[in-house]
Amino acid sequence: MRVCYFFSVIMLMHAYICFGDTAPFVISEEIMGTTVTQTIYGPHADKVAREASSRIREIESILSFHLPASDLSRLNNHAGKGDIVLKPETMYNLQKSIYYSGLTNGGFNVLVGPLVKLWKVTSPDADIPSAGQIAALMPLIDYRDLHVNIESGTARLDKKGQMADLGGIAKGYASDEVIAIYKKRGITKAIIDIGGNLGLLGFKAKDTPWCIGIQYPGKDRGNPACAVYLSDCSLSTSGAYERFFEKNGKIYHHIIDPSTGYPADTGLLSVSIIAPKSIDSDALSKIFVIGADKGIALIKRIPNTNAVLITKDKRIIVTDGLRHKFKLIAADDFTVQFK
Ligand code: FAD
Ligand code: MG
Repeated sequence: MRVCYFFSVIMLMHAYICFGDTAPFVISEEIMGTTVTQTIYGPHADKVAREASSRIREIESILSFHLPASDLSRLNNHAGKGDIVLKPETMYNLQKSIYYSGLTNGGFNVLVGPLVKLWKVTSPDADIPSAGQIAALMPLIDYRDLHVNIESGTARLDKKGQMADLGGIAKGYASDEVIAIYKKRGITKAIIDIGGNLGLLGFKAKDTPWCIGIQYPGKDRGNPACAVYLSDCSLSTSGAYERFFEKNGKIYHHIIDPSTGYPADTGLLSVSIIAPKSIDSDALSKIFVIGADKGIALIKRIPNTNAVLITKDKRIIVTDGLRHKFKLIAADDFTVQFK
């Protein structure tokens, strides 16, 4: 999702104007089928940005569901044929994915790949699959059929036709890798945005956090419904309003409910998660699938983690930890509930 980008940049420009700060180096590129924007302050920012871009492209070449030669595709092509040695990046993302698949009781489901491929919501010829097509794939999406062995660096998928898809977690991982590069190169103030998976390094200005807008679902980009004040953390948003197709007046979006095989429909329009690391906030934003009540209950059990949920019935549900960091912008349209 590119939900936060435009507004965050507006806020950054605002920071520049207000505080007389040095202008940041800003670069946007298309990588991983989405827009990647780096905003870096400090000397040699262009060089650091190039290094970060190379790392994102490297991660794409390893973890892409779409590239036939990726490490992930090697695993998927080997489904039903036993263990296969994989790269550390793949092992780490698979291990985290299994953890979050269990934690969300299968709401986040790393084996959702066959359904993602069937629905192909962003393709020009996307259409509603038949009930029979969906039913035929349901036996393939039990995440407990993915096994990773960290000692041997191997993984396996039990059944032929099973496919791991890291589309709901690997952009977060890439964002964390970029923040690590920034820190290694002495950068103390930057934002990396990989399609709505934001990594925030440092503060906007001394003791002043970044102000990050959360997109008003359904409105043009750059229209925030609300904003959060954050520093040194990640924010990832999953929403039903950017990658979808419409048929007979109904929206079919890209976040699949693995219990039904259809796009998740739990009364939510978007879920934004704030956590120390982006791999975690990206995966946890899939509480979209389990709905507001179960999702908020889960987030409240995880340390240093908060959520902003926007519902179809015009509520913004915010975890208590954000009470003093939250700002409602579209006040005429939404009511806010702290939980
Ligand atoms: P999120 O809500 O964070 O994630 C939704 C995505 O997660 C879905 O698109 C699907 O892939 C997966 N998913 C759906 N349901 C579930 C579920 N219940 N549990 C877990 N995961 C689920 N897109 C292209 O069009 N072309 C490319 O070449 C391309 N390359 C990519 C390479 C990599 C390494 C990655 C990570 C993604 C790539 N993408 C590509 C995907 C594109 O960026 C996706 O649209 C994106 O991953 C969706 O992310 P999001 O943050 O918008 O949505
Ligand atoms: Mg995401």
